[in-house]
Amino acid sequence: MSKKKKICVVAASAVIVAPMLFTTPASASSVSNGILSKIERQLSVNKILKDIERLSMEDGQNKDNARVTGFEGEHEAAKYIQSQFKKLGLNSELKTVDGIDGFIDEGSSLTINNQSVTVKTLTYSQPTNQKLEGELVYAKTGTENECKEANLQGKIALIQRGSISFADKAKNAYNNGAVGVIIYNNASGMLNGTLGELNDSVVPTVGMSLEDGKVLVDKVNAGESVNVSMEVNTIVKPNSFSYNVVGELPAHKNVKNPQTLVVGAHFDSVSCPGANDNASGTATILELARLISQPEVKNKLQYNIKFVAFGAEEIGLVGSKEYVEQLVQSGEAENIAGMINLDMVGVGNQVVTYNIDDNASHKITDIAHENINELGYKFGGHFNSGSSDHAPFEAAGIPSVFIQFDKDPYYHTDEDTLDKIDPQNIKETATLVLNMLMDMQEKSPNKPNKPNKKQFKNIEFENEEMPSL
Ligand SMILES: [Zn+2]
Repeated sequence: MSKKKKICVVAASAVIVAPMLFTTPASASSVSNGILSKIERQLSVNKILKDIERLSMEDGQNKDNARVTGFEGEHEAAKYIQSQFKKLGLNSELKTVDGIDGFIDEGSSLTINNQSVTVKTLTYSQPTNQKLEGELVYAKTGTENECKEANLQGKIALIQRGSISFADKAKNAYNNGAVGVIIYNNASGMLNGTLGELNDSVVPTVGMSLEDGKVLVDKVNAGESVNVSMEVNTIVKPNSFSYNVVGELPAHKNVKNPQTLVVGAHFDSVSCPGANDNASGTATILELARLISQPEVKNKLQYNIKFVAFGAEEIGLVGSKEYVEQLVQSGEAENIAGMINLDMVGVGNQVVTYNIDDNASHKITDIAHENINELGYKFGGHFNSGSSDHAPFEAAGIPSVFIQFDKDPYYHTDEDTLDKIDPQNIKETATLVLNMLMDMQEKSPNKPNKPNKKQFKNIEFENEEMPSL
């Protein structure tokens, strides 16, 4: 890593026009460089690793269900994050996000005439409670009519993927008395999908490969009696909630109408320890909050800085969408100068950046790229992605950048544990964001565009692994 060279190209007029992160005397650059190197020296990778450990482990064991959206572990993590903000003297707020479907998949199993067949739980499937036993009936693509004609009362329905959503197939089967549903793929390989939301009016539903599905259809069509035993182990928590946790450092009181910079990371997880995804980003913003709240920095802030730990990211950016919706409704969105999102910054060998539209011009993305270059990091490229919490901000017209390390082979698995985190990545991420925040005084991000009130709510959450149709 080469030492950062501070580039100072401030025209006299720019000093007046551009909002600065820090109020500084005439020789702005040298003073801010002094502060920067001082707070860089105070950066504690150890503190970040300790927080990753705190968020992903329990009694020295990796938590299988560390911070699953809508469950106790997530709520407990939110309170821990707020307690850390409070300790640092930040103005903190725990904002409840309602209407969350809590769901944990603990695996499904299926036997056909006493032979085991591989199946996959559909996300948001109801559990079977006990083993379901029933005769298998073929209901084609599971339309209302096809389910009616198939005589499903007390039976387990075998349905092919296609034409209508998995949820509609499961509902139609339920309405016609089926006790369980198997949806088999219409292309080679296992069917992996989601019912979209929790619903009492669906039966336990699993996915199956095209190959296994075809064998079963042939048996049923040949008039063979096919007996199914099915077990779906899911934990469902309807009408649950999540939190967004905000910690704010206000701009110096002499700054008139200060703009706000948001530094965000989601803290919820899927059903795994979630050390990299995303205890790494969460712990990093906690350390950044500690560094920026040092008096020599805090007392010179030209921007409000809001550290936001988002909940409910893993189920479709629900926390950040709600947060941005509130910003837009209150008019505050027009005052957000930029958003930096950290998600999965601990594993991989190169830093990468994303915007929803990788061709769009975001000054904050340019600032990230300049600093990555000046710091001498290995850069993997700039890509488009709407799969993290920058997306609602960017869609609302707020200049945003998503920073990540690439590539994590343990993504969304039980192997996403503390020991995989590379301390060097953590150090580089925290240093990069510090440098970016310092740079804002010389290169103000674009003024936000007029927020688009509808756009951010309807952004596509890319989740290719989990189709609903
Ligand atoms: Zn994530």
